[in-house]
Amino acid sequence: MNSFDLDMERVISIIEKRGAQRVGLQFPGGLKLRGLTVANEIQEKTGAVVYISGNPCYGACDVDYALRDCVDILFHFGHAEIEPLEKVVFIEARSNAEVIPALEQALKMLKGNSIGLVATVQHVHKLNEARDFLTKYGKRCVIGKGDSRIKYDGQVLGCNFSAARVNVDEFIYVGSGDFHPLGVALATGKRVIVADPTLNEAREANPEQILRQRHAVIAKALDVNSFGILVGTKKLQMRLSLAEKLCQKAKKKHLDAHIIFMNEITSGQLTQFRVDAFVDTACPRIAIDDVALFKKPVLSPIEFEIVLGERDWSKIKFDEILGGCNEEKTT
Ligand code: SF4
Repeated sequence: MNSFDLDMERVISIIEKRGAQRVGLQFPGGLKLRGLTVANEIQEKTGAVVYISGNPCYGACDVDYALRDCVDILFHFGHAEIEPLEKVVFIEARSNAEVIPALEQALKMLKGNSIGLVATVQHVHKLNEARDFLTKYGKRCVIGKGDSRIKYDGQVLGCNFSAARVNVDEFIYVGSGDFHPLGVALATGKRVIVADPTLNEAREANPEQILRQRHAVIAKALDVNSFGILVGTKKLQMRLSLAEKLCQKAKKKHLDAHIIFMNEITSGQLTQFRVDAFVDTACPRIAIDDVALFKKPVLSPIEFEIVLGERDWSKIKFDEILGGCNEEKTT
């Protein structure tokens, strides 16, 4: 069974060491259900007052600063730190699922000899075990180092596949879900086998369907005249200078373009703007995960370049926010 270790011993010890009297808790969707239990345990063991964030939380970029400013420590669960933040402690929620059964399946599907290993933070601590297992079967494994946005070797984010930029024949992604392995496949052009420890199965990530979907979104935006260029106000998602560049490019092509700042990008919020299409420079997952909800095309910056005729359709890939600078070019 897959469950997540919230490392409560560490949480309690940090509160005691720092003498924190007020503690904030922030959880992503899947872990929010455990919020009250965690709060009770902290209150009983330390006597601290606990406040829980009820806001959505999608990643380490999504810190509840209002809550942070009301407490001595904010524990942000489920994500690895992207950069150190005052008063914020990231508790990563590691999965305790066994990886070997899924890797046994994945091994049968491999065609190459050199294998890149990647995972989200929930499973990244299992990559050494995965390497040892595959090495026994004659595979050469590489666990790549990501850029400064990435805390652990082999770790990928939905907005950053830099740890997959290694010279290998193909990849094994340890984890569940499709977004990250598809991102790796599109970023590298290599085959990606998903070894899913939650379902105890292996499958090949096939980008065909998502590419068809993205091509349809781009096609709808080809003949439109006005664009809203969305800038996320969450600090580690904000790419204003990229938005400004895209806006200038649009204007050069005699298109109407406006920069719109937004904290939560939802289809409801977007209906308030009378433009024909949007470009999302905030979290790259939004345009893809919520595609069925949006009434107008929402493009990534890379897809917008295709609309403007500056990029070939075959060069489509997922947008990334690379480390060192969250204002980087789209190419
Ligand atoms: S920008 Fe999106 S994908 Fe990247 S860390 Fe934040 S929520 Fe995750």
